[in-house]
Amino acid sequence: MNYDIKSMTASEIEAVLKQLGQPSYRAKQIYSWLHKNKASSYSEMTNIPKTLIGKLEEEYPLNGCEIKRRQISEKDSTVKYLFELSDGEFVESVVMKYKYGYTVCVSTQAGCKMGCAFCASTVGGFRRNLLPGEIVSEIYTAENDLGITVSHIVLMGMGEPLDNYENVMRFLEIITSEEGHNISMRNISLSTCGIVPRIYDLMQKHLGLTLSISLHAPFDEMRSRIMPVNNKYHIDELLTACRRYAAETSRRISFEYAMLSGINDTDECALALAKALKGMLCHVNLIPVNEVRESPYHPSTPERVKRFVELLEKNGITVTVRRKLGSDIDASCGQLRLRHTEGKD
Ligand code: SAH
Repeated sequence: MNYDIKSMTASEIEAVLKQLGQPSYRAKQIYSWLHKNKASSYSEMTNIPKTLIGKLEEEYPLNGCEIKRRQISEKDSTVKYLFELSDGEFVESVVMKYKYGYTVCVSTQAGCKMGCAFCASTVGGFRRNLLPGEIVSEIYTAENDLGITVSHIVLMGMGEPLDNYENVMRFLEIITSEEGHNISMRNISLSTCGIVPRIYDLMQKHLGLTLSISLHAPFDEMRSRIMPVNNKYHIDELLTACRRYAAETSRRISFEYAMLSGINDTDECALALAKALKGMLCHVNLIPVNEVRESPYHPSTPERVKRFVELLEKNGITVTVRRKLGSDIDASCGQLRLRHTEGKD
């Protein structure tokens, strides 16, 4: 694949510049402009000769994203962006402020193929994979806009990161590079609906990031109903991969569990979940489901969530309930784009 310059590693940029008769230090300068200074145009690169800038502008146009909408939560200052990509596709990112710093939640695809019944990203289907340079642009554009530097990244926006595997791996390489943004892999979480072969591929890489698995149900029949990917990779196959991953990398896996009232929040589900995860280096993150207009699901009551937590804890599973941020700004993945493309606001 031919990558755009923002999706290239420093050594790939060096090869491009060599062909243009440029010394190798120029590659470092350009890489640093792109990924340290978060430049969105070549004209900002003041130590690069004008003639070279002209050539780069012509032959290697910079892809980025433009802010189409920005919503700021009045409750907790969570900021949600709707970005427009160079070909007119839309993706979303969310910036959240925590005690330890800023976390950005990025999209890896425009739309999604996975079809989870409760998720807004899936309405409207799959559009395309994002390039590594577009994923970094989500972060840089938000940082430049807010005048902040983020310390943590979660790949939990629109799309399935392991369905855009090569580009996401390249994104991780660029965003963690010392000559670039230099974010620690330890501060990155990648969330997947469970594409088993790619979990094994990721395991081999020993990246040090946190793997999150969107489990959402402890029974195959139930999980297949809300997450079609389960028809391909059943729960036991997925959990075997997770056990191997945790053992091989010594990294604790985080299981995401959206609480859907009357569906997956019963005592029976809690006990089955505890049994399925027994002995694994893991953690359960309960998320009261965000209501999506197009889906029939409602969040579990606080009493149900409390009971679910108690049952898991009693059975030796560590569990947290995710704090709900940005609930007044459609901050669940895909919701803002959906409203925009429907022309509702
Ligand atoms: N495709 C990846 C990452 C994107 S979704 C994955 O499936 O993990 C990030 C998380 O938000 C997933 O756990 C997803 O299941 C969850 N999610 C999607 N829609 C939701 C909703 N309406 N309410 C609560 N969580 C939701």
